[in-house]
Amino acid sequence: MEKPSLAFLQSLDKVGLVKAGKLGVSTYIELALLLPHHYEDHSLQNAPSLGSNQTIDATIESVVRMPNSIKITMYAHNFGFSMEAVMFRPKPYMLRQFLVNERYYMYGKIECSRGHCSMLQPLKVTQVGGIVPKYKTTLRNDVMQRFIMKHVTLENLQSEGLNEKMTTNLLKLHFLEKLSDVYSDDNYHVEILKALKYSEVYNYMKKLQHKRRYFKANAQLTNRWQEWSTTLPFTLTPEQISALESVSSDLSSKNAAKRMIVGDVGSGKTMVILGAVVMAKGFCSILMAPTTILASQLYKEAKKFLPDLNITLVTNTTKKEDLSSYDFIIGTHALLYRELPKTALVMVDEQHRFGTAQRHQLEKMLSESKTHPHYLQFSATPIPRTQAMIDSAQIDVSLITKTPFKKDITTKCIEKDDFANLLEHIEQEVSQNHQVLLVYPLVEESEALNYQSISEARAFWEKRFDKVYVTHGKDKEKEQVIETFKNEGNILLATTVVEVGISLPRLTTIVIVGAERLGLSTLHQLRGRVSRNGLKGYCYLFSHNKKSERLESFTKTDNGFDIANLDLKYRQSGDLLTGKKQSGKRFIWIDMAEDKDIVQEVVNDLSLGAK
Ligand code: ADP
Ligand code: MG
Repeated sequence: MEKPSLAFLQSLDKVGLVKAGKLGVSTYIELALLLPHHYEDHSLQNAPSLGSNQTIDATIESVVRMPNSIKITMYAHNFGFSMEAVMFRPKPYMLRQFLVNERYYMYGKIECSRGHCSMLQPLKVTQVGGIVPKYKTTLRNDVMQRFIMKHVTLENLQSEGLNEKMTTNLLKLHFLEKLSDVYSDDNYHVEILKALKYSEVYNYMKKLQHKRRYFKANAQLTNRWQEWSTTLPFTLTPEQISALESVSSDLSSKNAAKRMIVGDVGSGKTMVILGAVVMAKGFCSILMAPTTILASQLYKEAKKFLPDLNITLVTNTTKKEDLSSYDFIIGTHALLYRELPKTALVMVDEQHRFGTAQRHQLEKMLSESKTHPHYLQFSATPIPRTQAMIDSAQIDVSLITKTPFKKDITTKCIEKDDFANLLEHIEQEVSQNHQVLLVYPLVEESEALNYQSISEARAFWEKRFDKVYVTHGKDKEKEQVIETFKNEGNILLATTVVEVGISLPRLTTIVIVGAERLGLSTLHQLRGRVSRNGLKGYCYLFSHNKKSERLESFTKTDNGFDIANLDLKYRQSGDLLTGKKQSGKRFIWIDMAEDKDIVQEVVNDLSLGAK
C-alpha cells in the first residue's frame, strides 16, 4: 500500500510544499478537512436583493473624488439600470482601481431608496457565477481557493482510499453550487457531518497504520496453553480466554507480535502473561515490571503457577549472574543493565508507568536487525472502546473489561456535615486493624484552594490516632514510608501521586479530599487500592459541591471501562489537580463518546481486526 501522505506531497512543487507546510497538511484528506469559514454568493442576479452582498457586472461611467470618499456612477448590466458606488475613506490606490468606460465585476452591499440604488465599499472580483468559499487559513483566500481547486478532487481523495460517498460529500463543502444547500434539510447536514467525522478518523487511522512496522519474529511459538489453564485453581474468564487466544495466534505467526492487553487492576492480566510464557516454552521469555514490589509479586505467582519452569528475578539488589539458562526472567528496569539472553517473548507489565524510551530500550536490546521478539504490553488504565478501536491501527488491542470477582466497595459523596460520621467510621475501621488512606490535594497550604493540605491536616489526625504516616509524590523516602505503613500503620496521609501498584491488604477506606478536581479515571485508580484482599471497602469523595452528577455517577459503577466512557461524557479531559492530560484534542469532528459506530465503520473499511 502506498503511504497516504506521499502521493499528495510528491505532487507538489517547492511553492506547493511551502503552502502545505503553512497549512499543516500532509494528505489530500487533511486539506479537504480545512473547511471554508463562510461562503459568498457571486452569482449574477437580475435584481438587487437589498441589504445583502451581491455581485454586479458593471461599466464605469464616472469616477469622482470627494473630500472623504470616492463616488462612482456605473451601468449595472445584470440589473439593466445605472447606479452608484461609494467608497468611504479611500486609500490612494482606490482612485485608480476603477477606470471610466471599463467593465468590471464588483461585489458589495446594495442599498436602494427612492428608486436610486448604490453599492457600498465595492470590491473588484475576478470570478463570478458561483459561490465563493472563504477560508480562514494562513494563506490568502484566492491562493487557498486555487490550492484547494487543484488538489481537492474526487480522484485525489479516492486515491487515499476514501469511498465515493464520503468524497462527494466533502467536495460539496468546497464547491457549493447553491448557497441554499447549506440551509437545506437536516438530512444534508447529517450526511455532511458524517463525512467529516469519517474522513477525520479514516485519515488518522490510516496514518497510524502506516507507522506500524512489521518484523519477522525471533521464533514462532506454538505450544498450547489450554492444558496449563486446567491446572489453575479457578476457571479463566471469557475475556482472559479471548485475550489468550489472540496472543496464541499472534505468537504462532511469522511476524513479531505487538499487542496491548488492557484491563482494570484485578482483572487477571497476570494469567495472560503466564499463559504466554507457556506458549513460549522451549524459548526464553522476559517480563519487566515497574517496581521491585510488583516484580517480586509476579515472580512469586510465576513460581506458583509455572512449577516446571526455571524462573529468576532480576532487581537492583539481586546479584549478577548468567541468565542464559532460565526459561522466564522477571525483573525491574534493572534488566536494562544486564546481559540478556536471546528471547522469543518480551512483556512489559503496567506499561503506562514506564517511559516510552525505557519500553523501547528493552525491545531493542532483544532485537536483531532483521528479527524481533514478540512483544506484549499490559496496561491497567482502561481506555474507552472507541479509543481502543482507533489505537488498533497501530497496535493490536485486547480488552479485559470484567474482573473475575467483584470487590465490595461502597462509594459515597460526602461534605463537611458528614465529617463526624466519617470520623466515627475511621475509628471503627482502625479498631479492627484496618487501614485508612486520606488523599489531599496539596502538601502545603495554599490560598487558591479551599481544602486543607497535608501539613494543615496532619496535627488533627496525629492527635486522634496512633501510627499516622505521611508521604507525597516528591518524598524521596516514599517507598520506604509506604512499606512501613503497610506493616504497622493505621492512617496514611498522601497526595494522588502516591505509587499505584503497591498492594495494601489491610486498606479498607480511602477518603479523597477535593474529589471534584480529579478526573474519574484517577478517582478509579485511587479507589482500586482499597479492598485488595476481599475485605469490605469504602471510598469517600469529599467535596464542597456535593451535588455533582459526575461524582454521583462514579459512585454507581466500579467498571474502569464504563468510567473511561463517563470521563468522556463529562468532558473531563484532565485533572485540575495533577495537570495530567487524559486525551489530547486530536479530533475536531469525532466525538469519542458518541461516534463509536463511525469509528467501527472505519475499522471495518480498513480491515483491521480490532477486538
Ligand atoms: P491484574 O494484574 O490484572 O491487576 P491479577 O492478574 O493480579 O490482576 O489478578 C488479580 C487476582 O485475581 C489474583 O489474585 C489472581 O490470582 C486472581 N484471578 C485471576 N484470574 C482469575 C479468575 N479467572 N478467577 C478467579 N480469580 C482470578
Ligand atoms: Mg498486574
